[in-house]
Amino acid sequence: MYTLNDKINSFEPYKPDTAKYDIKADANESFITLPASLRMKLARAAMDLDYNIYPDCLATETCRAFAAYHNIPEAYITAGNGSDELISVITSAFLKKGDTILTFKPDFSMYAFYGSIYENSCIALEKDENFKIDVDHAINFAKEHNVNMLIFSNPCNPTGQGMERADVEKIISSLEHTLVVVDEAYMEFYCESVLDLVGRYDNLIVLKTCSKAFGLAALRLGFAVAGEKLTNVLRNVKSPYNVNSVTQAFGKIVLENRKYIDNAINDMLASRNMLYKELKKLSEQFEDEIYVYPTNTNFILVRTDLAEKIHKRLCLEGISIRHIFKNHLRISASSADNNKKIISAIAKVIAEKEN
Ligand SMILES: *Cc1c(COP(=O)(O)O)cnc(C)c1O
Repeated sequence: MYTLNDKINSFEPYKPDTAKYDIKADANESFITLPASLRMKLARAAMDLDYNIYPDCLATETCRAFAAYHNIPEAYITAGNGSDELISVITSAFLKKGDTILTFKPDFSMYAFYGSIYENSCIALEKDENFKIDVDHAINFAKEHNVNMLIFSNPCNPTGQGMERADVEKIISSLEHTLVVVDEAYMEFYCESVLDLVGRYDNLIVLKTCSKAFGLAALRLGFAVAGEKLTNVLRNVKSPYNVNSVTQAFGKIVLENRKYIDNAINDMLASRNMLYKELKKLSEQFEDEIYVYPTNTNFILVRTDLAEKIHKRLCLEGISIRHIFKNHLRISASSADNNKKIISAIAKVIAEKEN
């Protein structure tokens, strides 16, 4: 009989909710669908693809469009099948079995997920009660424990909170022997990016994704941005044809359409502000029931002892939000209409308890 090893036997899978909902506000995707004019361009590109030929290994034209969007050198960019794949590639290639990964708690669960597959020891430093990071403590801890890789999201999923650029740079410059991976999946909503520092620090990788602000979660397209030394390694160790030709072509077209992207980001920020304001109102009305955390992203984290109840009830009403660590809810900003439905559904559950 074939025996599974202990590592995969005890592995905790990532299981997103795949049920169908009228309103999907659980995965921080964009609520904006691509305009018809852009869809037409994608359709035309799809007509012309060479489906019988393997894709370009380096997704050259897509990386060029990404480089132009951010005004950075193409030589710094590696494309991936979502930034998820790049987290996996980075963890497997830059670390050896048994090496130490440092991250924070809470932070994105995929860091520990890949760490455990590649048999690294993963330490998560607890954030304070406001979900802030003590930067000096983190730096000292990383030095004392000879951490091989420090990885965190900025702004953070699931807390929604950002760390200022000066603090991130302090971490990078203080830990010159540690690989520092800054996952900027939501940086389009915050503007404290360290993307421009990759040429200066040879221990820095910045991760970017097209799944959130750019509204392309279905395509699976992400980028690792780093100086040439690290980029050469990334390009060499990734699987050769990791980004398929459809994604490369579609990604290029959307990345070259700055007007769509700028509008989408503005609309998502406006929606986020509306959702935040309405949740704040609720929290002022029902002080004992709900606390709203500040946000630098397109989603909002709230703390409430009614989390489980609210989550279940919203599901029944066709609304999916994320229920995390017992008494928290993470809600992605959606259209104005959907935001209103989410708020009134939450308000109903709280009001019932009050009566
Ligand atoms: C959504 C998200 C990603 C994106 O992953 P993709 O694989 O590019 O879709 C990466 N990091 C964080 C923190 C995220 O929340």
